[in-house]
Amino acid sequence: MSRDRVELIVDDQAFEVEAGTPLKALGITPPPDAVAFTLNGRVYDFQQGIRDSGRVAWLTFREHAGREVFRHSSAHLLAQAVKRLWPEAQLGTGPATEEGFYYDILLPRPLGESELSSVEEEMRRIVQEDLAIERLELSREDAMALFRDRGEGLKLDIIARIPDGTTISAYRQGEFVDLCTGPHLPSTGRIRALKLTGVSGAYWRGDEANPMLTRIYGTSYPSQEELDAHLYRIEEAKRRDHRRLGPALGLFSFREEAPGFTFWHPKGQRLYRTLEEFSRRLQEPRGYQEVATPWIYRVGLWKQSGHWDHYRENMFVIEREDETLGVKPMNCPGHCLLFQSEVRSYRDLPIRYAEYSPLSRFERSGTLHGLMRVRGLHQDDAHLFVREDQIGEEMQGVLDLVDHVYRTFGMPYEVVLSTRPEDYMGALELWERAESALREVLERRGLPYQINPGDGAFYGPKLDFYAVDALGRRWQCATAQLDFQLPVQFDLTYVDRDGQAKRPVMIHRAIMGSLERFIGILVEHYGGDFPLWLAPIQVRVIPVADAQIPYAERVATSLGSAGIRAEVDRKNQKLGYKVREAEVDKIPVVLVVGRRDEEQGTVSVRMRPEGDLGAHPWPDYLEVLRVKAAMPV
Ligand SMILES: [Zn+2]
Ligand SMILES: [Zn+2]
Repeated sequence: MSRDRVELIVDDQAFEVEAGTPLKALGITPPPDAVAFTLNGRVYDFQQGIRDSGRVAWLTFREHAGREVFRHSSAHLLAQAVKRLWPEAQLGTGPATEEGFYYDILLPRPLGESELSSVEEEMRRIVQEDLAIERLELSREDAMALFRDRGEGLKLDIIARIPDGTTISAYRQGEFVDLCTGPHLPSTGRIRALKLTGVSGAYWRGDEANPMLTRIYGTSYPSQEELDAHLYRIEEAKRRDHRRLGPALGLFSFREEAPGFTFWHPKGQRLYRTLEEFSRRLQEPRGYQEVATPWIYRVGLWKQSGHWDHYRENMFVIEREDETLGVKPMNCPGHCLLFQSEVRSYRDLPIRYAEYSPLSRFERSGTLHGLMRVRGLHQDDAHLFVREDQIGEEMQGVLDLVDHVYRTFGMPYEVVLSTRPEDYMGALELWERAESALREVLERRGLPYQINPGDGAFYGPKLDFYAVDALGRRWQCATAQLDFQLPVQFDLTYVDRDGQAKRPVMIHRAIMGSLERFIGILVEHYGGDFPLWLAPIQVRVIPVADAQIPYAERVATSLGSAGIRAEVDRKNQKLGYKVREAEVDKIPVVLVVGRRDEEQGTVSVRMRPEGDLGAHPWPDYLEVLRVKAAMPV
């Protein structure tokens, strides 16, 4: 086929057309929810000329790239509305963002938040008008003339920077034209639900020497239901923000004196230790051996491990006695030294070292964010030293753990397999065998997974797990990373069946990841309403009057002996007040004990979320609670 013809497959129908023909000229009707399409990984709208042969894949709002087209078109809509209200406004740029879009605009006067509703109203009018969005391709002179006539000084600035030979394009909808490469929606009527969310300032091109523009933020959806759900999630995320809830529930705090390090208050430390204990109880029966290795090493070790070249910026470094020392950001080098400390046989493998000790990572102060990004952290970290033929089985074991843990927290998860990058190290066959072992493990479990080709580290392929929380947000937590390189750096060997020294493969894996960050995620996932087994205080015993305090204390003591975290509310307050307070503190079980309870040997049970469960004989009921509060291992 000649170079000026392209062959397209659209919904299994083949077309051969002149290069540069847009999809809309093919005379086909895209599916109603299609906003654009991809061809060989590139996003096109229905008006852009196609210069590549291949199969057309429709994009909808559900795909990230489709959402970008939708949101960027919403930014144009915003700009058009602003120009209708203030014709002298000058447009800067208006990209899509993860959650919506914004547009930077030079306005004749500052815009108050309260004026956003009139802009929104104008936007809705333009949606009603359902204006066709048309693509124009222009010469530099025509583009300059067009935007000069329209008084768009900032656009002239952009055009002047476009390199020669680049197609200059603009999109028109009704009376409005914007300089833009696209792609865009076919018409304004597609944006059925929108909301402007805020205003801030931004310098043109991010340069303080330039004028300050008004940045107007918004978000948009194909339907009002989806917009409402989004707004609800935002409100709920604010309400659940762990930086607010954590201190309010007495879990943790941060102080200026130690940026990036956590003060764990008594309840938070209980939560922390419960998670650590959960991890131990899962791992020990699965053959993990807990170790503790040094936290400060001489610089030579960090050079050997490669951290000095690749991770030094994130390390706390100390100079003492003419020597440089580094505080560990990771446990891997220490575990390599442990492995090295004895002669290993093929029969000893796999060796699974687990460690929970503190790690320190220097993060710039501007990037610190509650528990989500800290400088002092602990991981449920482990390194597995395995024979190559054990990779599949060991990864199967890691997946079992991931599945158990995320199922326990009621979080679905998504898996991404990252494969060999261009600059890989180690033997090609080893990579191929390892990658197919990983694929097989995922397929055997029937886990849907996504492949990120070429996205593995240079030293091995990896699996990343994204947990989805109660608000639908994705968090990358668990990771399992094969490493062919560190065993070389540390010259790790084992004696194989044939008496030869062989290299083990190392697997770095964490299930919850940083426990600090994971607790931050859990606080928001549960909104502070932890399940019974995890709650820092599982039971609060409330005596109705002071006379019942000794009985309440006996109840709490027997709970404590059964391994249940319990406390007595000795405050001199009315019963109703104390019960409400237990609600606010999100205590899962409240046992009220009054005079009758004491006489009859009962407790009155209130449980979240069930409510009032009435009087139960004590200590018989202790067994019920013991079972309910047990760690799910
Ligand atoms: Zn645009
Ligand atoms: Zn590691």
